[in-house]
Amino acid sequence: MMILRRIKDNLFLFTIILAYGLISIINPSMGLASVKNSGYYIKEMLMIMPVIFVLTALLDLWVPKEKIMQFLGRDAKAKGLLLAFVIGSVSAGPIYAAFPMCTMLHKKGASIRNIVVILSSWAVIKIPMLLNEAKFLGLRFMIVRWLLTVAAIIIFSWLADKIIKDEDLPQGEAQKLGVSINKEACIGCRICVEIYPELFEMKAKKAFVKDYDDREIDSERLKKTMMDCPVKAIEHTE
Ligand code: SF4
Repeated sequence: MMILRRIKDNLFLFTIILAYGLISIINPSMGLASVKNSGYYIKEMLMIMPVIFVLTALLDLWVPKEKIMQFLGRDAKAKGLLLAFVIGSVSAGPIYAAFPMCTMLHKKGASIRNIVVILSSWAVIKIPMLLNEAKFLGLRFMIVRWLLTVAAIIIFSWLADKIIKDEDLPQGEAQKLGVSINKEACIGCRICVEIYPELFEMKAKKAFVKDYDDREIDSERLKKTMMDCPVKAIEHTE
């Protein structure tokens, strides 16, 4: 039972291990090459990710949430789009380095659309990549591809924003264990924000829990907010 739960919780990892096992049985040399290849990427990730985590933590600490919401939030519109293109285009490093940073930006109020633009420009229109592209394939090729790619990113980020909801993204373990909001149930009445603005905020007509320190929770006020929420969408798991 315990083993089955472990497998269920780490389904992706177990699928990969199973795939390696099968490849190694069918074609041992291909299996060995696959393991070596993965080992190379894991080593690269272990070298890069600690730096990325430190940078992300510093950004999280230094850049206030209000600024992220103002410049990359839903209301930032064209300004947010432009900034997202700039962030993605000037960034360095492999694309997986962008994921923790984008998680932090989303947690602080960046819109899904701007997150998609950052990730897409990071992946396909980074400036060093463009310079190399122009060198090997010519300036005309690079400019036409860049223009078409930017147009595609604008369209697909808009579509992604319509399909993916903020609550579809993980909200972080701390929130899951502490105060959380059932987004399906929330009707956006703002009562929680009015009673406890230090803990709750509105984003796109849904209430969200702000970053908080468990020790600073005013349990009386939280209890009142939970009671007053008309659809009982606020949960507190201790
Ligand atoms: S009080 Fe409840 S329904 Fe109203 S915004 Fe807050 S969580 Fe949503």
